[in-house]
Amino acid sequence: MKIDGTPGSLNRNRQLLIAQTAWQGSDERQALWIMQCMPCGHMYGVDAPDFFQRKCPACQGGPPGLVVKPDAPATPPGSSS
Ligand SMILES: [Zn+2]
Repeated sequence: MKIDGTPGSLNRNRQLLIAQTAWQGSDERQALWIMQCMPCGHMYGVDAPDFFQRKCPACQGGPPGLVVKPDAPATPPGSSS
């Protein structure tokens, strides 16, 4: 199977890429991608570069997923007003 990081791709740990987003991942240089574990159905966010090696945080002992916050402001909390 080709793994090219497009939605619908599975990585080697059977984690499905649901969508690529423009939301910020764990830092401002990373885009957040949404993934779903095929074995258990758990959905979580990851930094884009982590996709290829990501393990499910629920059933494969991977690190906790990033929180997916589509309504989050683009600026960090406390930086405005
Ligand atoms: Zn899982």
